Amino acid sequence: MASVFGKIVVGTYVEIKRSDGRIHQAMVTSLNDDNESVTVEWIENGDTKGKEIDLESIFGLNPDVAPDEEIPPSPETPPPPTPTSVKVNKIAKNRRTIAPSKNDIPSKDNRVIPTRARPLQPQQPEPAPPPPSQLPAQPNQALTQQQLQNARRKSNCVKEVEKLQEKRERRRLQQQELREKRAQEVDTTVPNYEILYMIRDFRASLDYRPLTTADLIEEHRICVCVRKRPLNKKELTMKDLDVITIPSKDVVMVHEPKQKVDLTRFLENQTFRFDYAFDDSTTNEMVYRFTARPLVETIFERGMATCFAYGQTGSGKTHTMGGDFSGKNQDCSKGIYALAARDVFLMLKKPNYKKLDLQVYATFFEIYSGKVFDLLNRKAKLRVLEDGKQQVQVVGLQEKEVKCTEDVLKLIEVGNSCRTSGQTSANAHSSRSHAVFQIILRRKGKMHGKFSLIDLAGNERGADTSSADRQTRLEGAEINKSLLALKECIRALGRNKPHTPFRASKLTQVLRDSFIGENSRTCMIATISPGMTSCENTLNTLRYANRVKELTVDPNQVMEGGRPNIHAVNQLDLLDEEWLSISPQRDDLKLLCEQNEEEVSPQLFTFHEAVSQLVEMEEQVLEDHRAVFQESIRWLEDEKVLLEMTEEVDYDVESYATQLEQILDQKIEILTELRDKVKSFRSTLQEEEQASKQINPKRPRAL
Ligand code: ADP
Ligand code: MG
Repeated sequence: MASVFGKIVVGTYVEIKRSDGRIHQAMVTSLNDDNESVTVEWIENGDTKGKEIDLESIFGLNPDVAPDEEIPPSPETPPPPTPTSVKVNKIAKNRRTIAPSKNDIPSKDNRVIPTRARPLQPQQPEPAPPPPSQLPAQPNQALTQQQLQNARRKSNCVKEVEKLQEKRERRRLQQQELREKRAQEVDTTVPNYEILYMIRDFRASLDYRPLTTADLIEEHRICVCVRKRPLNKKELTMKDLDVITIPSKDVVMVHEPKQKVDLTRFLENQTFRFDYAFDDSTTNEMVYRFTARPLVETIFERGMATCFAYGQTGSGKTHTMGGDFSGKNQDCSKGIYALAARDVFLMLKKPNYKKLDLQVYATFFEIYSGKVFDLLNRKAKLRVLEDGKQQVQVVGLQEKEVKCTEDVLKLIEVGNSCRTSGQTSANAHSSRSHAVFQIILRRKGKMHGKFSLIDLAGNERGADTSSADRQTRLEGAEINKSLLALKECIRALGRNKPHTPFRASKLTQVLRDSFIGENSRTCMIATISPGMTSCENTLNTLRYANRVKELTVDPNQVMEGGRPNIHAVNQLDLLDEEWLSISPQRDDLKLLCEQNEEEVSPQLFTFHEAVSQLVEMEEQVLEDHRAVFQESIRWLEDEKVLLEMTEEVDYDVESYATQLEQILDQKIEILTELRDKVKSFRSTLQEEEQASKQINPKRPRAL
């Protein structure tokens, strides 16, 4: 028996009538037995629209697709089919069962329902109906006319159908091209696509619970956290992969691609735990909230606070501390320097602190190759002196009084432009120097508290110690040494150690007062780049940060979505006795190198010693030279007087000769001394060069 749907199959084009009276083509996408209707779809203004229409209306408009037996045998019976005929068909029960997609919204009232935006079902193009001349001859005239009419309309239909089909074909082709392009991107043009898939799979198994503002801000004496930045334009262009996952508020995972002997690749997933982990969507404000903000109170409570941004160049240190760069301009109001200043002024208004009558000052300086430059005073070179009580002073450092956040912003701008002036790239210079911004509270001129915010030199530069260029080597040595010293100083702070190797570097020397005392707190923000190309540096950064405050993690716990176990490894406890046996007079550098045997090879230690000696000698030679220069002016004056004396008719020859001899003796003595110093300085320069060549190029790794 014939189907109730007549000649309609899925994919048939039919004419439909819209509620506004328009008649247009639509494609049948499903046949609905239960209510004897069809669902049709068409494209309107770029959207796929759909509608459910009962068979009666369809056959009324499209008699050519009605069931054959429904075409009334009598010419008197006009199409469209009557409800009775449909009922007849209903009884026929020759049902097609194509269930409507579950996304389709069944509609009883022929409402236009937006359907899911999906391409139309692929289908065989409908064979074009035969031209009217080929239509079978009908015995009945009326019917023939009707059929001719239909045929004419059909020929219009055919055109429409063809147009629609063409469009559909084009769309399908475009989509296929797109799919192929995507497939190509994944399969061939993305380098390391297998790694990409492995990382995706791994991530799919994780339970994500990122940090939110609802999370508790914990009190830490030493807070160590990690911030991942997003992939940047360059990395995206290079199709670098994001190999960092931050599944929860304190866990960082590195998916390190590795290769087996048989060349199959696999991921080595390393998990680190910190006090906080900030993913690439975290704002500066949020990072600030958990890191530096809790330290603002410390300085009001007569304490010392430090906050460091540590990481490889380009990982986001300056973005975090100084503020967001948009194009060439930096919005320093969004950096931690400014956010901290803002809160200092807010805190100042609190009744408790208001009565203290505190003044706020700011300093901004840079430490480059062991030398201090004032960024608020046209980069004046400053000397660092230590008095008998181990108090360290940066002589002549400008402390500017600030009354509001705007004052601070202006200073930051001045300092920033001074820092990078004459530099083609901000990063070229800043990667080799530490920038220190300080907010100082004074009460009647006396220090009340100090907050030092430090944008450290790029840690990868610490590995420049074996460079062919001396300047680069010395920079590298200073960075290497200062980052090692910083780590030891923070660790010592955590253990309340009486002695810290702060003298090993200028950085730790100028921050010395922040590493001692009961009321000192510190925070380190380790910034990391997400890219696979930065993987090694990223791991070095995480290892360093981990050693600053040793915390380990059980990766299985993360996979199960549970809270990781903390195994606090108190390696320093093991060092206690060793520590005590070390005399406080012992060279800090030696202590530092001993504490970091893993990273500091004996050759590197020799090199560091040579560099330290060199830097010390350079200072001495310069100082002596200046003194000799001053002395020479006096000699000139004395000699001038002496020569004038000889112009007298009866001058005392004896006295003249004695005085000249004295002057010359003094000159020779002083100049010889300077010459000897320069000589040994030169040989130290050579020693340094020799020592640098002894360093195994693989060591040290970036700190
Ligand atoms: P660093 O000071 O460590 O060398 P920068 O702070 O200069 O690195 O960052 C390098 C680039 O990455 C800059 O263009 C910066 O704007 C961008 N960047 C860094 N961190 C982020 C972040 N969290 N979100 C967006 N862009 C960032
Ligand atoms: Mg920077």
